[in-house]
Order: sequence, then C-alpha cells, then structure tokens
Amino acid sequence: MSWRDTMCGVLRAGDAGRRVTLAGWVDARRDHGGLVFIDLRDHTGLVQLVVRPENDPLAHDVRNEFVLQAEGEVVARAPDAVNPNIPTGEVEIQVDTLRIVSTSEPLPFQIGDESVDEVLRLRYRYLDMRGDRMQRNLRLNHVIINAIRRTMDDLAFVDVWTPSMTKGTPEGARDFLVPVRLQPGKFYALAQSPQLFKQLCMVGGLDRYYQIATCWRDEDLRADRQFEFRQLDLEMSFVEREDVLDVLERCVVASFEAVGREAPQRPFPRMGYAEAIARYGTDKPDLRFGLAIEDATEVTRGSQFDVFANAPCVRYIVVPRTFSRSEHARLEEIAKEWGAKGLAQLGQISKFLSEAELAAFGVQEGSTALFVADEEPIVARVLGGMRTHLGRELELAETGEEVFHWVVDFPMFERDEDTGQWTFLHHPFTAPMPGAEAFEGDPGSALSQHYDLIWNGWELGSGSIRIHDAAMQQAVFRVMGIGEEEQQAKFGFLLEALKLGAPPHGGFAMGIDRFVARMAGEPDLRQVIAFPKVASGADPLTGGPTPMPDSVLRELGIKSTVETAEN
Ligand code: ASP
Repeated sequence: MSWRDTMCGVLRAGDAGRRVTLAGWVDARRDHGGLVFIDLRDHTGLVQLVVRPENDPLAHDVRNEFVLQAEGEVVARAPDAVNPNIPTGEVEIQVDTLRIVSTSEPLPFQIGDESVDEVLRLRYRYLDMRGDRMQRNLRLNHVIINAIRRTMDDLAFVDVWTPSMTKGTPEGARDFLVPVRLQPGKFYALAQSPQLFKQLCMVGGLDRYYQIATCWRDEDLRADRQFEFRQLDLEMSFVEREDVLDVLERCVVASFEAVGREAPQRPFPRMGYAEAIARYGTDKPDLRFGLAIEDATEVTRGSQFDVFANAPCVRYIVVPRTFSRSEHARLEEIAKEWGAKGLAQLGQISKFLSEAELAAFGVQEGSTALFVADEEPIVARVLGGMRTHLGRELELAETGEEVFHWVVDFPMFERDEDTGQWTFLHHPFTAPMPGAEAFEGDPGSALSQHYDLIWNGWELGSGSIRIHDAAMQQAVFRVMGIGEEEQQAKFGFLLEALKLGAPPHGGFAMGIDRFVARMAGEPDLRQVIAFPKVASGADPLTGGPTPMPDSVLRELGIKSTVETAEN
C-alpha cells in the first residue's frame, strides 16, 4: 500500500476523472449529516473531500488535525460550488475509502492563527510549523542555502567540516563551555565561529573553504541574535578584498534569483567607515533614504551663538517636514537619552545666527534642520540615532527597494571603554591596510582590511583579509597588551602555522538566518529558525535548559554554586 499518490494542493480542473489517494491533516470539516466535507491539508495546500457517511461511517468521527488517508475520484465542482480562494477550488474528491491514520486531541491554538502568543507557538512549534508562515520560511531557508551551495560549488569552494568543540575563538562574545569528562576541570568552548580552523585550512593548501557553519555565542537574545545560528563561512587563498566581496555578491544575487526576486545590481556600492560615521552616524547605515548628516563646525566656528562657537563639532540633519513644539520636545528628550545636551531646531535658534550661517544650511520651506553640538562621537551617535529613528517613524525607508552596500576601511583598533586598552574591532586576525603595517607606532590611526555587508541597515556579515605573517600577528597581540606567554598559551598553534608556509588569505561570514529573515520580511530570526530559544534563553518546547544531578556534575568535575531542586 502506498500512503498517497498525489499531493493535496496540486489538483486542478484538468484532473477531473482521476482516481487519487491522498494523505494529510484535517484543516476543517463541515458535517451535514448525509454528507461530510473535509478540507484535507498537506504542505502543498488544501483540497475538499466529500464523504458519504453511509459508505464511510468514520467520517462523523473525524476532527480537526486528524491525519487521514482518502481514496476517491477527482470531480469538477458545480459552477456555484467553485471556491475561487484556493487553487484546488474547482475540484473536490468524491471519497470512497476513508482511513483515520492518527487522531488528535483539540489543539492549543488554531493552525495559522497569527494572533497566538509566541511562547505558545514555540511550545508547540511542530503545530506552528503546519501553518503557512513557518512552512514558507523553512522552505525559503532551504532554497537560499541551496542557491548558496550551488554558487560556492561553481566557484570551486570545498565544504569542510570544522569542530564544534574548540579551544575558543575570540569573536568578542562569551563562550558556551563543554566540560570534558576525560580531562576533569577542563573545558572546550563551542565554536563562536570556525575562524582559526578556516585559516588553518588555507595554510593546509585547501585554497577555497566554505561551510554553512553553526556558531554558538553566549549573548543576550534579541530580534537578530540567537545562542546558536548559522553562517555562510568562507575563506580563500591568494586573494584581495575585491575577490572576497565578489563571491558574496554572487551568493546574494543567486539567492534573490532562486526565490524569484529581482536581484540587486552588482557591484554593490562601497563606503568608507569614516564616511559612514560622518554622514550617517553608524557603520551600518540604511541607505534607502537620505537624511545624511551635514557638518556645520566650520561655518559656525565664529558664531555669535555660543553653543555652536564653543562646541568641538556641530552637525545637523535636514528632515523633510516640520515638527510641532511638543513633537520637537519629544525628539529632544530622545536625543538627551542618547547623550546629547540638546537638540536645536533651526527656527528656534535662527535669530542667533548670521545671514551667512543661515544661507549655508540651505533649509527649504517645510523642512527642519536639527542640530547637535558636542564631542564628535556624541554628535555622530545622536544624529545617527535620530536619522534611523525618523527614517522609521516617517517611513522614509519604505521604498520597496533593497539596498546592499559594503562598509570598508575600518580602523584596526579601538579603545576599550572600560580598560582604556587597545582592542580589535572584530577579531585580531585582520590585516592592516597596505601602508599601515607599522601600526604599533600609532594604533589609533591604522586602518584595516575589514569589511561589512549591509542590507537596508542590517549588518549581514563581516570579513577581512587576514594576517599571514607570524611577526605581524604578534605585533597585533602586543598592541592589545597580550604578552608573549599569553600569546603562546592562547594562539601558539596559529603562530606556529603562520611560520610554516601560510599563503595570503581572506574570508567572510554572512549570517544565513539574518539573510533569510530579511528575505522573508520577518522581524526576527525566530521566525526562520525551526526550533529557536526565547529571550530568557529557554526552549519552551523541550523545557531546556535543566539542572543536572550532582552525580552527573561530579563525573564532569563540576560543582554548581546555584541551589536548585535537583542538586
Ligand atoms: N569569523 C568572523 C565571524 O564569525 C567572520 C570572518 O572574519 O570571516 O564573524
């Protein structure tokens, strides 16, 4: 016996007269006594079954979400019975054999009900999956990953599996630790990324590595973060920045084409980090709308208006509308939360400004110039935040356009706000820009060969050309205050490999779940991941995480300091 020979959603008028065997779930039923109508559902859609209980008394027992098998004939519906709302609406199945394969208790929510609380959806994710949204998203995920794999294969990349349990890679997040029973008191970290292994693959002559890699990072969960996520992770030997960017652009374009959407134009624009910060106040600007930050520091240097004259940096954005007094007060409150002393509107302060100053701002009727005067980083942060906020609030970004771009030429180091120590922006394996090799003398001004991919203001991923010289790698560690001994303890294996014939190499990692979420138009990653965690870090479905009995911990050489029911 075969369970089915046809899928529910594919039957059309032309199939009338065919005998079919179908299997699926009961989406709805209407019992008219002498005739029972059942909408049978599988992932391809719905089809209406018509059952005569005199042939099949079981039909009265059928309830929603029972699993049925039905045999019968496809018949054309009478014109007045055609349902134009479903693709199979011109036909129905006259069932002669009905089998209840599985029963179902009443469900905790109705399949496809969008108003259901998310924790409940996740608690019963397998039911949630029966609905269109998760079916669509998980299949979209699959289509995109396939398109990426095909592209990587065409470009001669080799899929190599790297360990999940590692010594820990410094991607800047906290590690998840794995105790090792055979080595009590010692731990592996779950890989935050395959970073060092993929670099070692290059030293190993693999030339082009990739992986749809699972990564684990112990960070607070947000819309765009999960403890575990997947990235398209790649590394290439004997390449320049442009070679790496080209591969990513091909993957993006192939993904758009695979899902039948118009692909963004290649090459994607490149923007320098300094320009991104100066013009948009962020290194991941949403370029679907303008509202760029303009500089007024020079123009207002000798201003009569003290606030401007005395500030190290004066910048503004011009917003294409005016604000009432209370609207402005609300914006100013937000600006203050972000650290500004105030948010000046040109109208308010124009009496303090000269003709020349006013002319320089070129603000048109119906527009508003909003100024912040302060230290440069504060101005950038506040106006950047204001730009994003207003872009969203005034729906300036709702253009339907998809804007991909690169941010390049990042600083090599930044000061850690807490310790004052130089630290890396992304990870310490990024090479300096040609010409910046002597970064030790002036770490703050050295630029690196790091690059980020941005889609509509979302950071999709990052990469860099790497350091392939042990002495230079050690110089980076020195700048970061990592002494010789610590270098050897943490990265000795890398330094050793870099001394044994390391080719120049570079790579990238793009968040697949992020990419798919955007592609699906979903607001967060949970909607495209089959079994995600919620913000508390819990898994509502299985009830994880759980405490472990003392006996288990003892075997692992661990003692919990937290009192729980179990230990
Ligand atoms: N390892 C980096 C990350 O996971 C990406 C890279 O530099 O290739 O974000």
